Amino acid sequence: MTTIAIDHEKCTECRMCLIACEEIGINAVYLELEPRHRHEIDVHKCTYPTCVVCLMYCPAPGSIIEVETGRSLVPPPPELWRDREKKWLRDSLTFKPRRPAQS
Ligand code: SF4
Ligand code: SF4
Repeated sequence: MTTIAIDHEKCTECRMCLIACEEIGINAVYLELEPRHRHEIDVHKCTYPTCVVCLMYCPAPGSIIEVETGRSLVPPPPELWRDREKKWLRDSLTFKPRRPAQS
C-alpha cells in the first residue's frame, strides 16, 4: 500500500487539503488537537494514489510526501494529475483546482 503524509516542516496548516478531501466525501484529513494542533492524513481512509485531489490544492511545495519513497507530491508529479482516469474526481469538485489539469 502506498501512503501519503504531511511534512510539518513545510506545511502552513492552511486547511486546503482538509477542505478538498471533505468536498469529495472521503474525509481522510483531520485536525489532530494534541500535541500540536496540526493537520494529519488518516491512511486508512485516504485512497491515494487513486485520489490525488489534495495534492492539486496544497499551496506549500513539499508539504505532502509519499511515505514509502519520501518524494514530494506538491506540486503533484505530472503522471499523477494528468491521469485521465482521475477526471471523475476533478469533475466532482465544486471549486476548481489551483493548477488546472493539462492534457
Ligand atoms: S494543504 Fe498543504 S499546506 Fe495546507 S494544511 Fe494541507 S498539507 Fe498543509
Ligand atoms: S489523496 Fe484524496 S483521499 Fe487522500 S487525503 Fe488527499 S484528498 Fe483525501
